[in-house]
Amino acid sequence: MQSNATLRAISKLSVTAAVDETYRLVKAQQRAGKRVGLVPTMGALHAGHLSLVERCRRECDYTVVSIFVNPKQFAPHEDFSKYPRSLEDDLAKLAPLGVDMVFAPTVEDMYPAGFDSYVDAGNLAVPWEGEFRPGHFRGVLTVVLKLFQIVPADLAYFGRKDYQQSLLVRRMVADLNLPMKIVVCPIVRDSDGLALSSRNVFLIAEQRRQALSLSRGLQLAHQRFGDGERSGVKLRELIRQTIAGEPGVEIEYAAVVDPETLVELPRIEKTAVALVAARVGSTRLIDNELLGKDE
Ligand code: AMP
Repeated sequence: MQSNATLRAISKLSVTAAVDETYRLVKAQQRAGKRVGLVPTMGALHAGHLSLVERCRRECDYTVVSIFVNPKQFAPHEDFSKYPRSLEDDLAKLAPLGVDMVFAPTVEDMYPAGFDSYVDAGNLAVPWEGEFRPGHFRGVLTVVLKLFQIVPADLAYFGRKDYQQSLLVRRMVADLNLPMKIVVCPIVRDSDGLALSSRNVFLIAEQRRQALSLSRGLQLAHQRFGDGERSGVKLRELIRQTIAGEPGVEIEYAAVVDPETLVELPRIEKTAVALVAARVGSTRLIDNELLGKDE
């Protein structure tokens, strides 16, 4: 049950699935001199998403949140059908933050019959997530470009939680001359270190405990880097061993890479990013940590 105040806030929120109307409303705001920000999400909102919304609210005059579980970024064997969906709860979380508009289209709104054009993600999409989720970034960039067309915001907010995604979006914006500024925001974690994710709801208590090995491994690598370790190989192995020490967690990849090229670094000259992906039961989790680099 939502409180009366929340219900009142939700009733003031403009929620739409209409592509043309959304575009017109956003353009009208801009003509009136407002700075428009967009926060693209797949819903099942948690404090990580809300941190992007709050930042957008601080930096923009008009905040649009999109909620769309994009089928094109899930491979056939992945969890599209069981991905958590909770529009009512999401609206109740967004309304008190002063969000101006929620764009929540259906699959048919975004991909009407005959849809057949995609963004061809380049070399940055090949390793890491790209290896374990073939076609994923083609789907991501396609939906992000469509969202940018429908909501032609001045700024768009993404989380560093999906490091490779944020890099690919920045790349696409530069390569395709999109008139939008991309803001990448820090990872929000639970108090025990677990990076917040919509998929965490699938973890039973024992798995949630096991999942902490990802953030623990990254944190150890961060400390070791702070102590002066510059061998990317040693830091990678430290992360690997920390995660492998937890039965029930199956690593997909652990790597210490260049922040811009995503190429593995045997030695870290200046900065790096440690990336991990693992399965805990049937739940796939990703996390990362910056080494020698600010947000
Ligand atoms: P999603 O709904 O998972 O597609 O995520 C929508 C946006 O929220 C993406 O830009 C994510 O990187 C971001 N995000 C997801 N989890 C977190 C988190 N724990 N901290 C910060 N941003 C996040």
